[in-house]
Amino acid sequence: MRSILFVLVFHGLLANLQSQNRAFAQKTIDTLSSSYFSGRGYVNDGDYMAARFIQKSYITLGVRAFKNNDYFYPLTFYVNTFPKACRLKIDGKTLVPGTDYILGPACPSLKKTFSVHPSQSISPEKLKPNMALLFDTSHKSYSLEIEKSSKLALKINLQKKLTWNVATHQDKCASLDILKTSWPANAKKISVTIKSSLVEHYANNVIGYIEGTTIKDTFIVLTAHYDHLGMMGKTIFPGANDNASGVAMMLDLAAYFSKNPCKYSIAFMAFAGEEAGLIGSKQYTDNPWDELPLEKMKFLINLDLMGSGEKGMAVVNATLFPDYFNKLQQANGAQDKKYLPAFKSRGKSANSDHYWFVERGVKGFFFYLMGNYSHYHDINDTSKNLILSEYYAKSFLLIRDFILLI
Ligand SMILES: [Zn+2]
Repeated sequence: MRSILFVLVFHGLLANLQSQNRAFAQKTIDTLSSSYFSGRGYVNDGDYMAARFIQKSYITLGVRAFKNNDYFYPLTFYVNTFPKACRLKIDGKTLVPGTDYILGPACPSLKKTFSVHPSQSISPEKLKPNMALLFDTSHKSYSLEIEKSSKLALKINLQKKLTWNVATHQDKCASLDILKTSWPANAKKISVTIKSSLVEHYANNVIGYIEGTTIKDTFIVLTAHYDHLGMMGKTIFPGANDNASGVAMMLDLAAYFSKNPCKYSIAFMAFAGEEAGLIGSKQYTDNPWDELPLEKMKFLINLDLMGSGEKGMAVVNATLFPDYFNKLQQANGAQDKKYLPAFKSRGKSANSDHYWFVERGVKGFFFYLMGNYSHYHDINDTSKNLILSEYYAKSFLLIRDFILLI
């Protein structure tokens, strides 16, 4: 009887711990992907507000600063921004930004009406400045020559799904991705108003640590990028899964390890400029702080896309560091009580902030969860759509247990 009671109480406590950290993470995701943070990008100081939020969270959770109360690692880079509303009309019908179309991230400013022509119907010498060319991705008959023509001012790509991005430059030719289903058959005229501005942007990585119990000068490093795509005019790209969820997981682990320090110190690095080309992590690895040099990093875990998990977890660099991948599988538990159903073992990839660290000799994994959530770099990656499941809590426990095995 007693042992059954113990088991029940223990499992009750565990379930409570899990639901508590899931609620904490959900609240963090709700906050960071709210309109207050403007998509954590380059309009309305969105990424700066997010950096301040993370700094405050570090202080509340007991994550210390490396330098006199300063958690910010400053960096600058150029980025193409869309500070004003964009407008698009096809044959007099207005399309909805974000829903029907997106601007090419490197679009220049443009205010003009064009006649529409399928790309294969025009030869380069017949191209005129008032012609917009339609490139339908289902026809593979792109003319590269005409795409490169200096006379081309507007390129239209029909897409099955809209996936936005960030550019650090401006192109001469504007481009639009329009949803296939929003494109009227036999469209003749297209009017566009785009206001873009290439700006020098000031951002900050937000970095702190929790001291270890015995091996204090060696760090396990947890990283997550907090920037997203920001805004395209008035349209917000909230970035709930990408990557409010990774920041939430990182802060959740900080809450745990500040109460239960492990033998190594743990550093927490929230990166800026990931979507613009891994810029925050690149600049850190080019110029690391003396207090957190690369050679003192025992192992790095980068967290990005932590909102699902029902199909398991992908592990980038698993094939590079098989001993650590074995430890991860060990942490996942015995056959009958696994945290996650599967791992996807991957090789090297430059697809998130772990990349520059590993290139410079730091061992590390990039974890992302796999599941049915399909919203990526679009206006539907919202906290309303991203409801954390039990797999969030299981992933938390898996990463915690893996850290304890390192
Ligand atoms: Zn991401």
